[in-house]
Amino acid sequence: MSKVLIKMVDFQYYCYRCGGLNKLDLPAPDAPDYHHAELTCGSCGDGTRVLISSCPNPDCTHYVFWITDISIPDVVVGFAKYMVHNMQSMIDKAALQGATIGIDTPDTYPINASCPCGTEFSVDIVIPDLD
Ligand SMILES: [Zn+2]
Ligand SMILES: [Zn+2]
Repeated sequence: MSKVLIKMVDFQYYCYRCGGLNKLDLPAPDAPDYHHAELTCGSCGDGTRVLISSCPNPDCTHYVFWITDISIPDVVVGFAKYMVHNMQSMIDKAALQGATIGIDTPDTYPINASCPCGTEFSVDIVIPDLD
């Protein structure tokens, strides 16, 4: 059994509402894994979200992150549900006309990133089984 080490990074961001600097330690698993967390500004209490992932190049210590008000995984899952729902009604209509359509729903939605070290990678947002 190999030990799984998850990198912790010294994460800093400026609150977009009050401009306050926030510092915290966050786990940053190697891409395509990611850590998703809710953040609360230490100055004004404003809440935001971060999605963070480390560059998978073992010689590199960079990490990438996205700060948004919305939850990226929630959006991806919401979008996937919407797509599946629409696909399903298309499939039902096709079935009425005697056609058959098969769809594969993906397990992950990749977000592409490139690191200053030159590594191109993707962070794969996990889509739960929608059946
Ligand atoms: Zn703030
Ligand atoms: Zn890198």
